[in-house]
Order: sequence, then C-alpha cells, then structure tokens
Amino acid sequence: MSDDAAANIVDLLVVGAGPTGLACAIEAQRAGFSTLLVDKGCLCNSLFHYPAHMTFFTTPELLEIGNMPFSSPNQKPNRNEALEYYRKVAEHYRLDIHQYETVEKVEGSDGNFIVHTTDRFARPLTHRARKLAISTGYYDLPNYLDIPGEELHKVRHYYHEPHPFYGLDVVVIGGKNSAAIAALDLWRHGARVTLVHRGPAMHHHVKYWILPDINNRVKNGEIKAYFNSTVSNISEDDVTLQTPEGPVTLPNHFVFALTGYHPDFEFIERLGVKLDEGNDRCPVCDPATLESNVPGIYLAGVIVAGERTNEIFIENGRFHGQLIAEDLRAKRVAV
Ligand SMILES: Cc1cc2nc3c(=O)[nH]c(=O)nc-3n(C[C@H](O)[C@H](O)[C@H](O)COP(=O)(O)OP(=O)(O)OC[C@H]3O[C@@H](n4cnc5c(N)ncnc54)[C@H](O)[C@@H]3O)c2cc1C
Repeated sequence: MSDDAAANIVDLLVVGAGPTGLACAIEAQRAGFSTLLVDKGCLCNSLFHYPAHMTFFTTPELLEIGNMPFSSPNQKPNRNEALEYYRKVAEHYRLDIHQYETVEKVEGSDGNFIVHTTDRFARPLTHRARKLAISTGYYDLPNYLDIPGEELHKVRHYYHEPHPFYGLDVVVIGGKNSAAIAALDLWRHGARVTLVHRGPAMHHHVKYWILPDINNRVKNGEIKAYFNSTVSNISEDDVTLQTPEGPVTLPNHFVFALTGYHPDFEFIERLGVKLDEGNDRCPVCDPATLESNVPGIYLAGVIVAGERTNEIFIENGRFHGQLIAEDLRAKRVAV
C-alpha cells in the first residue's frame, strides 16, 4: 500500500455505484460519514447496459434517492432520463466515485479494511475503509444455457437495440419481461423473430401492459413462438429446438438468450460473507441493519435476496442506505 493510501481512510467504501450504492453513500454522507464509491464500470453501469430505448416499469418518484425529485414528463421514465437523474444526484451530493475500477479482494477487518482494486489497465490500487457496503447487483453474470454453440459470437445475453438485426432470423430465448420486450422490439424493427420458452406460456411476471402485446403477436403468427420447448444446439447457420412435437431446426442469424442474471456469489463468499444455501443463497445478514456475518461489511440492493433477483429492485433497494447509515451512526465509527 502506498503512503497516500495508508494516510487516507474513509468511513464507508461502497462497492457498486448503481442506484442502491449511490443511496448508501448519500445516506452515510448525510449522517456525517466520509464515503467513497468504486464501480467496475461507469456510474449506474447496469442501467447503462439496459436496452437503449427501455422504459422503466416504475413511476419516477419510486426511483428517487437522496430526497431529490425525479421529474419526468412521462408516466414512466426511460433509461436516458434515469441516467440523467442519477448523474445529477451524484453531482448534487458531490459523491466521490471511482469509475472503471474493479474490486478484486478485501483484506483486514472491521475498522480497517484494505480494498484491492484494479483500474481499466489492470493496474493495482488500494483503498482503506472502516466499513464496507456491497451493492454489486446481478446484471453482470448471465444465467448460461450450457448448450453447444452458446459460445458463438452470434449468441447474446444482453439486448440493446434492434437495428443490426433488420431482415434477419433471430431467436429470443426466455419467457419474462426482457425476452418479451426484445422480441417485440426486434419484430417491430423488421427482424423475423422466433420466441422459445420452456414454460407453457409467457411468465405471469410479464408486465400487464406488455403481456397482451406479445400474446397477440404470437396469436397472429407475427412472432412465431415455441412453448414447452428448449434450444438444444446452436450452430453458425441454424438452431435446433426440442419441442413437444419433436426436434425442429430453424435457419438462424442471431440468438438472444435472455434467461436472467445472478449475483456474483463467488465474490460475496470471498469477502467471508456466508450464503444461506437453504434460502436461495441469500447472503447472511441482519435484516434490521444489513450487516453481514462479517462485522463491518454491509450488503445492499438486489444481492440481499440472493437468487430471488425479482424481489428487490430500485424501488425498495433504495431504502437500504438508510438502514446502513443508522447502524453506522449507532456504532459511531466517525472520527
Ligand atoms: C431491463 C430492466 C428493467 C428494469 N426496470 C426496473 C424498474 O422499472 N423499476 C425498478 O425498481 N427496478 C427495475 N429493474 C431492476 C433494477 O434495475 C435492479 O434491481 C437495480 O439496478 C439493482 O440496483 P443495485 O444498485 O442493487 O445494482 P446495480 O444497479 O446492478 O449496480 C451494481 C453495480 O455494481 C458494480 N459492480 C459489480 N461488481 C463489482 C466489483 N467487483 N467491483 C466494482 N463494482 C462492481 C456494477 O458495475 C454495477 O454498476 C430493471 C432491471 C432490468 C434488467
């Protein structure tokens, strides 16, 4: 560790500058603690990687953090508005955010953690912190299908925008919101879309205003759907499905496997935080304070619900910062 790093110790280092991480830093700062945020990507890196023209499911006030109003002319804001809002919040609170710095390893203990990171050029850096809040989300790790051909470049686990797929044969795998939204967007912009879902119909979690749209496109044959079906093989020019009627091979240019994402459990365990294997791998923490089994390490946001990634969103995860700040205050870590 450099002399500079040894001299500077922050009260709370937050890993992950998504909406939850920002809320954690803001609440701690408002309670009088010094903070530092570290994110391996840009500010709100997950939101940045959402579909370019996405609309949130949530009304703007439910995405607010730090008591800052989120005004939008739309009933539900879009990705650009949300990114703008969180930039303004970060600016307003003068948050110290180290972007493009990945947390690799943590040493030390409560009151004196040493956080090892690497920057964009893999250069090592260190920070010291009395306490840590981990809000690393779930969007970096796709749930892979583990089928032959998944490694081909034409297979994507993130959907961004439709234009590059105009006039092409595209398979979308999945039955929830991401798959429904991508299938509709691709179809509306000229792709020939086939939806493949292992369930008997689109999932009941699909938002009530999206469900009739996708169901009607399928009913009209505009989007071809295979339910109770799986993709068993992907090759350069086609895909093979296992359907109730037997195997089907379709010509194919691109595949979007939108089968969900999961938290980096290995990273959480490397911090010494235990996972409750009997409870969907929820990290062990006190629900009142969010302090984990490792004293001084707090968990926040979607990771608190383990594999149940549809339980905590921005709407409810944004309040985790207040719980953590209250506990910091109770333990009076500030110098
Ligand atoms: C398409 C889509 C639409 C959605 N719409 C809504 C909605 O309308 N309303 C709603 O409430 N929720 C919505 N959600 C869910 C919501 O976006 C997530 O639940 C939310 O982003 C979780 O916030 P978070 O701060 O916990 O994690 P994230 O926003 O994922 O932030 C985690 C951050 O941690 C960083 N990170 C990870 N590992 C490291 C590391 N080792 N070192 C440094 N940094 C690291 C990542 O780069 C990332 O920036 C939607 C999700 C999707 C995919």
